[in-house]
Amino acid sequence: MGATIAAINLLPLNQLFRQAVSQPSSEKPKLATNVINPTNSKVSIPTTNTSISSTVAQWRGQTKALILSLSIPSQYQGKVFEEVKIKANPKVIALTFDDGPWLGSTDEILQILRRNNVKATFFIIGRNLQLYPQIGQQIVSEGHAIANHTWSHSYHHFSPTASAREIEATTNLIYKLTGVKTYLFRPPGGFLNNGPAGYARNKKYAVVLWSADSNDWKRPSVANLVNNVVGGATPGGIALMHDGGGDRSHTIKALPIIIARLRSKGYSFVTIPELLELGNQLPPQDQVAKSMLVKSSKRAIASRVFKH
Ligand SMILES: [Zn+2]
Repeated sequence: MGATIAAINLLPLNQLFRQAVSQPSSEKPKLATNVINPTNSKVSIPTTNTSISSTVAQWRGQTKALILSLSIPSQYQGKVFEEVKIKANPKVIALTFDDGPWLGSTDEILQILRRNNVKATFFIIGRNLQLYPQIGQQIVSEGHAIANHTWSHSYHHFSPTASAREIEATTNLIYKLTGVKTYLFRPPGGFLNNGPAGYARNKKYAVVLWSADSNDWKRPSVANLVNNVVGGATPGGIALMHDGGGDRSHTIKALPIIIARLRSKGYSFVTIPELLELGNQLPPQDQVAKSMLVKSSKRAIASRVFKH
């Protein structure tokens, strides 16, 4: 990736970073999505012309002990989307993992991500986090984004009170255990009309669906699983895989291949909060119309009957 590309993207990212550095924890934005080990505020801003992935890696390396508070851009608050419209460069994609924390498979996926220097986003189930708090804490300590996938992962209709509990209990436990206040929500099954997604939208969560579906819950062959993700990849896309909820051995075998194939196609990997920041760099006239994918979300309302 060329220097020009990096220069275009460094400024807004640095501004974001400065904002995070300059704000004391008590004054951080209400819609904070990520907080990383708040003890040290001495950080230098990376200024070299490198690819976005190495730029992001530089911050991450320097912010181990800093509150990094990323607010969700207002255009995404309360919205539903499957991918994020971004500038042509950098060519990025977000890998997401649902239904953990899960004994064994979450750790194996974390190891693969660590070996490959990839940061991802984990949509966790509250009751699983209660069972495996240390795995959830490890997700965050390794620099991944953690997000809300309801407490019970049920598909039935929830009353308003039960919907609130599904969202709030999960967000509160994530915060209690990791210090991360998430405003990212993914509805189980992609269901948008059974209560929790509506509650999340009212509370200005970003409701994050996906654009590249591994279908790994059906346990396709490793080759097909790889092709599902790589074939569905688009710049600004969101790939769906699972670290929990069942036998994830195919996902674990496929993941290193997926990462390598996407890299060979020029992709870098970002978390969902980072992807939203990149989307927010588009000119205002391009943002809402192109990034919200209202048609897609209507399609989702009509036809999403998958198990995730
Ligand atoms: Zn799920």
